[in-house]
Amino acid sequence: MPSDIEIARAARLRPIQAVAERLDIPEEALHPYGRHIAKLDLGWIEGLAGRPDGKLVLVTAINPTPAGEGKTTTTVGLGDGLNRIGKRAVIALREPSLGPCFGMKGGAAGGGYAQVVPMEQINLHFTGDFHAIGSAHNLLAALLDNHVYWGNELGLDERRITWRRVVDMNDRALRSIVSSLGGIANGFPREDGFDITVASEVMAVFCLARDLRDLERRLGRMIVGYTRDRKPVTASDLKAEGAMTVLLKDALAPNLVQTLEGNPAFVHGGPFANIAHGCNSVMATRTALKLGEYVVTEAGFGADLGAEKFFDIKCRKAGLEPAAAVIVATVRALKMHGGVARDALKTEDLKALGKGLANLARHVRNVRKFGVPSVVALNRFVTDTEAELELVRDYCRHELGVEALVCEHWGRGSAGTEALARHVVELCEAPHPLDGRGFTHLYPAEMPLWEKMRTIAREIYGAEDVIADQRIRDQFKDFQTRGYGHFPICVAKTQYSFSTDPDLKGAPSGHVVPIRELRLAGGAEFLVVICGEIMTMPGLPKNPAAHQIRLDENGQIQGLF
Ligand code: ADP
Ligand code: MG
Repeated sequence: MPSDIEIARAARLRPIQAVAERLDIPEEALHPYGRHIAKLDLGWIEGLAGRPDGKLVLVTAINPTPAGEGKTTTTVGLGDGLNRIGKRAVIALREPSLGPCFGMKGGAAGGGYAQVVPMEQINLHFTGDFHAIGSAHNLLAALLDNHVYWGNELGLDERRITWRRVVDMNDRALRSIVSSLGGIANGFPREDGFDITVASEVMAVFCLARDLRDLERRLGRMIVGYTRDRKPVTASDLKAEGAMTVLLKDALAPNLVQTLEGNPAFVHGGPFANIAHGCNSVMATRTALKLGEYVVTEAGFGADLGAEKFFDIKCRKAGLEPAAAVIVATVRALKMHGGVARDALKTEDLKALGKGLANLARHVRNVRKFGVPSVVALNRFVTDTEAELELVRDYCRHELGVEALVCEHWGRGSAGTEALARHVVELCEAPHPLDGRGFTHLYPAEMPLWEKMRTIAREIYGAEDVIADQRIRDQFKDFQTRGYGHFPICVAKTQYSFSTDPDLKGAPSGHVVPIRELRLAGGAEFLVVICGEIMTMPGLPKNPAAHQIRLDENGQIQGLF
């Protein structure tokens, strides 16, 4: 099998106008960035408001191995599969971050014969959206320090400034810094630091905004720090949101690209899946729903984090109703959940596989709690045996009441997802899925913040309870009484386990979820509840991929994936 980049490079791309034409997007609604990428005109998008929505299909997964189990790949494969069986399907994905490309992670544009292209551009600078987001974020940081420099009229407590700076690079040296060194003209020295751009609240706000007005409103509400008496100071107190919106106005238009099979895909926005909600922009999803019969989209991490936040944050805020969910599972990850060591995952082990199915079972039952019908996409690896695949199929059908369909999009493109596509259509068309309950959130907006967190921990993670110091419990109360009680919860925890311990595999129960820290995202309008160590500025490994990346004699990129 050739590498991802070899496959992507061999593809014959259609002009982006031809891709747009399949969705009846007129030429004047396209702002091309070269021949294969275009942004959609925001004014034209506004004009779509009266159209009916297509069916929204979420792709999520079991708790993964560190390599990832194939959500992006399956999102692309299913989108292609739906097109193959004659449906007008659109894909909506996150934009990849630049920093990780130079570390060790592979691309974030799918893999094998299920990719979005042009993958080099998508993975590198693309249409400059992340640059715009980083600039807007850092403008606010500059305005903040400038405000303090010129007399600090708002009374910001310099020890309680929460707004850091961002850069789209894995650079551990910037995690904690001292800024304003060098004398009176440079301001007041203070502890500061950088996050990677995808961790910026501006990114989360950008991805939840319905239009430019909503973007500006949300930007204004972002909290940058507190006064001595703990009163929040916002971006609008610093009169920053107008200029920030100007910096973001072109970026907010969704980016259209294509799959290897020439089908339309939006790739737009990319918030972290831990301290943010981890899915592409509401702008892209809503636009796609107006243009396609089916929209296939991905939420980051396993379903305990990704699907829960997709349903409880994104769908709630954007008024979206998912019609079906696809839960990606692999034999290798299920064996890992059954206790097999990472280096032995390629050998057949029916016993461990049987045990590991408990992880899948809980995800299937969890998704059902939201009233969303689901199917398991069994992403086939060459090392999977027939007996292993049969075991998963049997178990899903008889114990869980869902189909598990073997998918081979990675090796065969849309030919490998036809069965999945047909089944997804059936789920979406079924008149009364799950006895007609329909989509519902896990908790109502009125539920107190602490109770919301407990509900997630107990219902989704299988935990006994949540625990926190008095200091954190007081913060919960404080946010509740200051008018943030209606916010949904955005949990930041490990993606490798239902618990907060990455090594606790399978479907643990009776565990407790310790809360370490809270961060109020006033513009994104959620409360981030941090459980465990969360890294918002990654580092590079000892042998970073950057060492191998270069241009060859033909001007082609080598070493990237
Ligand atoms: P996720 O979105 O869940 O993190 P991806 O779809 O990005 O996962 O896939 C992770 C990596 O695994 C990618 O490099 C992809 O090419 C590879 N991959 C996915 N499915 C398969 C498969 N069936 N066989 C081999 N490699 C695969
Ligand atoms: Mg992915």
